[in-house]
Amino acid sequence: RAKRSSSVNVMLYDCSMDLDVQLQATLEQLLRQAIENDELTVYFQPQFDPHTGKIYGVESLARWHSPVLGVVSPAKFIPVAEDSGLIARLGEVVTRKSVREHVRWATMYPDQVLKLSINVSPGQLMRPNFAEDYIAIVLEEGGDPSNIILEITETAAITDLAYCERVLNKFIKVGFEIALDDFGTGYSSLSLLKQLPLKYVKIDRSFIMDIDTESSSSEIVRSIVMMCHSFGYCTLAEGVETHKQTELVKALGCNLIQGYVYSRPLPAAQLDDFLAQAYRENP
Ligand code: C2E
Ligand code: MG
Ligand code: MG
Ligand code: MG
Repeated sequence: RAKRSSSVNVMLYDCSMDLDVQLQATLEQLLRQAIENDELTVYFQPQFDPHTGKIYGVESLARWHSPVLGVVSPAKFIPVAEDSGLIARLGEVVTRKSVREHVRWATMYPDQVLKLSINVSPGQLMRPNFAEDYIAIVLEEGGDPSNIILEITETAAITDLAYCERVLNKFIKVGFEIALDDFGTGYSSLSLLKQLPLKYVKIDRSFIMDIDTESSSSEIVRSIVMMCHSFGYCTLAEGVETHKQTELVKALGCNLIQGYVYSRPLPAAQLDDFLAQAYRENP
């Protein structure tokens, strides 16, 4: 009996595997078309300096408005893009669109500095010639590398730290800055934090989420901030949703914040209005 039920389990398991594989293939096909049909857009989420009250920059976040599936979250389609190799094309599309808007804002507000953060997947970073190709794309769009921050995750660095470091240094040489995204999740190692040529560390939302209810989270954030500052890095708290959380991360010495409390990610046209108001209030 036990044997029979376990073989049934195996069958069910296999069926769902097939479904996953099919679903994956369908998603991949749709995403391929989406890139061709220009269904991808970019939203921008403001980042804020709570110590000066000024907007610091914006993070570009990919959005897919599919006529078949509706709005698909990047949490769903970025992994598909990674697994299928579509990430290189997707990354190029996102970068071109982000840089174009960034150039437009720089022209509208020549006296302001607004940083642009762009997410880079391990699958992009580890591709041969990535830095050369990417820098060429940014320059082609008229982008200013010294106001662009590349957000990387620990995953790429763990696979081959020395290689990753070499790639990042090519970017730094022409003015880009590097941020370590989602810090504290995954396999954060101190040697990584020390060895990578970073400028910013983004403290993962999971620590910020309960910073006002869990003393352990606030202690973790305090330690991360202290350690990062000792390396000379700037810290950013991700996913700040309330004023209380803002006050706490500010008191813990966090340099920058990003989260719904300040703004959700916005389409470029709405960011125009956001910037107009932010610069009017804090010139
Ligand atoms: P991420 O880079 O850590 O981006 C921050 C995510 O947190 C965004 O989710 C943003 O909408 C969300 N977020 C910001 N503030 C809050 C908040 O106060 N509360 C909550 N609950 N969430 C907040 P999103 O846009 O769904 O993106 C998810 C992830 O997908 C990103 O995480 C990033 O890893 C990846 N991603 C997005 N766009 C791109 C892209 O163009 N290229 C690559 N390679 N990855 C991307
Ligand atoms: Mg990011
Ligand atoms: Mg993040
Ligand atoms: Mg994240």
